[in-house]
Amino acid sequence: MMGNQPILLLKEDTERERGRDAQKNNIAAAKAVADAVRTTLGPKGMDKMLVDSLGDVVITNDGATILDEIDIEHPAAKMAVEMAESQDDECGDGTTTVVVLAGEFLKHAEDLIEQNVHPSVIAKGFRLASMKAREILEESKIELDIEDEEKLREIAMTAMTGKAIEGEKERLAELTVDAVRHVAEKEDGTYIVDIDNIKVEKKAGAGVDNTEMINGVLLDKERLHENMPSEVKDAKIALLNSALEIKETEIDAEIEITDPDQLEQFVNKEEESIREMVNKVKNAGANVLLCQKGIDDLAQHYLAKEGIFAIRRVKKSDMKKLAKATGGNIVTNLSDLEDADLGKAGYVREKMVGDSHMTFVEDAEKGKAVSLLLRGGTEHVVDELERAVHDALKVSAVAIEDGAILPGGGAIEIELSNRLKSYAGTIEGREQLAIEAFADALDIIPRTLAENAGIDGIDVLMELNTAHEKEQLKNQGIEIITGKVSDMLDAKVIEPLRVKTQAIESATEVANMILRIDDVVASKGGGDEGGAPPGGPGGMPGGGMPPGMGGM
Ligand code: ADP
Ligand code: MG
Repeated sequence: MMGNQPILLLKEDTERERGRDAQKNNIAAAKAVADAVRTTLGPKGMDKMLVDSLGDVVITNDGATILDEIDIEHPAAKMAVEMAESQDDECGDGTTTVVVLAGEFLKHAEDLIEQNVHPSVIAKGFRLASMKAREILEESKIELDIEDEEKLREIAMTAMTGKAIEGEKERLAELTVDAVRHVAEKEDGTYIVDIDNIKVEKKAGAGVDNTEMINGVLLDKERLHENMPSEVKDAKIALLNSALEIKETEIDAEIEITDPDQLEQFVNKEEESIREMVNKVKNAGANVLLCQKGIDDLAQHYLAKEGIFAIRRVKKSDMKKLAKATGGNIVTNLSDLEDADLGKAGYVREKMVGDSHMTFVEDAEKGKAVSLLLRGGTEHVVDELERAVHDALKVSAVAIEDGAILPGGGAIEIELSNRLKSYAGTIEGREQLAIEAFADALDIIPRTLAENAGIDGIDVLMELNTAHEKEQLKNQGIEIITGKVSDMLDAKVIEPLRVKTQAIESATEVANMILRIDDVVASKGGGDEGGAPPGGPGGMPGGGMPPGMGGM
């Protein structure tokens, strides 16, 4: 061995932060993300105007959208953003909440680190608290039945309060709950609600109150030929996944034609086979043909002659919805098409919507796929409407699937906070401090809701804490519109259980991941994503050294 010469594992110019500095920076980054969205939380939250390099503007107070649009560099901040995205995928709501919570957990952790509590002890305490929180949430849940339309609408409305389209939320709640109930399917005693079976189309140019639900599928397409009927009543719909065209010869075959009769024969033959295809559609009993592939001019002409309404190149995803809505089967081989494969709908008709023709497949017989046509004065309005409707659809779907809800307006957070404080008393060691910190951090939700509405947060917290000492007042939260502490079920501020369980779980996970990192090394990986040092879950055991070692 060569005396005391230091062994260098990394190249001299490798970017690296260690220990407290690394931790401090990561925590600061995650807190900065939380601060960026904090003011948008709740019904009185403000909107953000996001302007991109081309000058395009998005105005929103949707946490997921804001984080999606801003260009974030810091790896720890990116983790917070990803967490918001997965919250959005899972629950459609609670994205601001999850980010604000993670920021607050980290803020409290920082105080403990200052008092020399080791980050891994904090992480352990947080994990215990999060597990206990889940238990408490399960105990506190209120059961919900799919038939309880009233409550479902309240859930949808809670998710939409504070959005720009607030004024229309009652009607929108009615439409979204209607849509979600249509597509809910019972499997082994529980409901599955796949909101992919709800087609959302948006068109600017009319007031939001013109938004409607269609029991069927809305296609942004017009009929192929003006001689086709523009409306078919009692539609019997062929769903075809093959073309009504003469196949191009695959190899460059040359056909030698020596006299005009031969040419005519050849053309006749082609015509005949097209004619035959159209006959197959007709003989199956169809008066509407929705085709995923092409339909050539001649076929269009014959279809029109037979009075069949036809559309070509329908998207695959729409074909699936059409099958679900009308009860039809998607047929690949035209020769197999028969009456039993036809989907049924009260109407298929073409209508003018805004500046384009759309096809409505309405009053569909099976009704397991539906559409929402969103209208609004301008593009900005329909875009924000789409985001609000997405949240509303997803929360009502989640509430139906789990059959469980919780009071909003900070009520459940206060309840959790109080009960976790008692739980902390039962835990030995310094983890207790972390559980207490976790419990305190939960106050950020009611406090921010209040502060964003210009109400004193500390007063509200005191009032809520006093109320929650009594079992019968455990649903008390802050009703932001009136500014009063009251029962959230009476105030109709309710949310699905899953929004809260998921938010607490992922906020804890991300906070812990960030806490465990004490070394940030710029690693070799290429690309946009690969370069972020704190990659996988569990932080960076072993320091995440790049394999190439210099300086030896
Ligand atoms: P997130 O992105 O987390 O869903 P929001 O801005 O949608 O953020 O705010 C959600 C919070 O607002 C929830 O805690 C919910 O309970 C609360 N909330 C919604 N409506 C009301 C209301 N009328 N009064 C008080 N709190 C409300
Ligand atoms: Mg929300």
